[in-house]
Amino acid sequence: MTQPYFETPPKITVSITATCNLQCKHCYADCTDKPTTSELTTSEWLAFIDYLVENEFIQIYFEGGEPLHRPDFDTILESCGRRMMTLVRTHATLLTSERAKKWKALGVGRLFVDLMGATAKTHDYFTGSDGSFEKSCNGIRHALAAGIPTDAVLILTKRNVGELQAYLELAHELGAQRAGILRLYPLGRAKHHWKEFALSLQEQVEALAALRPPAGLHVMRSWHPNDANCCWQAAAVDPFGNSIGCMYLREYVNYGNIRSVPFLDTWRNDALYKKLRAGKVEKSCTQCDHNEGTRGGCRSTAYAYTGSWNAPDPFCSELNEGVDIRVLPKWLLHDRPKP
Ligand code: SF4
Ligand code: SF4
Repeated sequence: MTQPYFETPPKITVSITATCNLQCKHCYADCTDKPTTSELTTSEWLAFIDYLVENEFIQIYFEGGEPLHRPDFDTILESCGRRMMTLVRTHATLLTSERAKKWKALGVGRLFVDLMGATAKTHDYFTGSDGSFEKSCNGIRHALAAGIPTDAVLILTKRNVGELQAYLELAHELGAQRAGILRLYPLGRAKHHWKEFALSLQEQVEALAALRPPAGLHVMRSWHPNDANCCWQAAAVDPFGNSIGCMYLREYVNYGNIRSVPFLDTWRNDALYKKLRAGKVEKSCTQCDHNEGTRGGCRSTAYAYTGSWNAPDPFCSELNEGVDIRVLPKWLLHDRPKP
């Protein structure tokens, strides 16, 4: 299979804010309750959404921070409504029944709700907020009752691996159609809790293999080779307007700021952006071609562990070559020097 290619991307991820009412120990965005730097204003986001529609983007995926923590989020959603397929990732603690109905009317097509365990004890440990588990579960119920398809999403760690099967059962009971089991990335606060949270690759593989999903629940897993090298299609903008390709690249790249450069110019002209989309990797496993025709697994993880954009993803069992993913390279924990 040949490497796929887009002239322009059909979909984009937008981190609408770096603020949140929770302060999770694993937060990739280092969220606080107030913006630390100047986020794009409402009118800047609305102009950007018009630009995306004019340039024939068909899907927008909002995440944060917590989108609901931004007071103008419904105005921004309204401007997307029915012009692009609109997806939202949220912890849903602020999602009331009325708001869920409004989102349905605004055309929100699917929610992804972060739920970090099958119990309040586990989830609330991560969020640092007692009662957040119950509120997130209620948010899922409200979304489903309003008719918005909703998935539960968990990041796999040492602290929740023991309740993974119970998690699938909980997601099914809540009415979710899918449960996402995501791998942990060494970003933001998560990297500073790495020893506490990170499992070995073997432990992760065994935990996933043991899962028995309830009938009717689809399980999504972000492990290579199921999870492709999807940089070829990746487009993302952070809360400050930086074009960064993918939220998992947020600490490593900046292709230009949409306040001064049209987004598609960053797509077309930035050398590193083009290089990552070209999919040239040193090695790939025997199953790589089965997924989108791309190779080598996630570029963010490959870079984090090796300092090379072309290296294989150590979360792939076939390509791991003895890398202990529980141990992070020292440079990751400090700002400088990078490899
Ligand atoms: S809920 Fe999400 S955005 Fe908010 S602090 Fe936790 S990880 Fe960060
Ligand atoms: S950094 Fe990883 S998750 Fe992000 S687009 Fe690239 S391969 Fe996909």
